[in-house]
Amino acid sequence: MDCIFCKIVAGEIPSARVYEDDEIVIFKDIAPKAKIHLLCVPREHFAHLAEADAGQGEMLGRALLKIASLAPALGLGEGYRLVVNQGESAGQTVPHLHIHILGGERLGWD
Ligand SMILES: [Zn+2]
Repeated sequence: MDCIFCKIVAGEIPSARVYEDDEIVIFKDIAPKAKIHLLCVPREHFAHLAEADAGQGEMLGRALLKIASLAPALGLGEGYRLVVNQGESAGQTVPHLHIHILGGERLGWD
């Protein structure tokens, strides 16, 4: 499969990993939109929440709790924003579900 995030998860493309376990990998976005901009990517390939089954939904719930528990150590103790773009018109540029983690500064909303 020609998916850049699958290749990053597999280690075929290098990334600056900050966390990984058997379900998710978290690494630095190469084009950061905030002082801290990380991507949390499930190891399993699926593109959209609409395709997720119950097990994948539970995995995403665990991912959210993991992000919350890691936040202080990642420099996000003052607050952070999670974004999941769904579909090209929303700005989803890679069709492998991912959670943007933004913070490290005061974030605007516009
Ligand atoms: Zn993928």
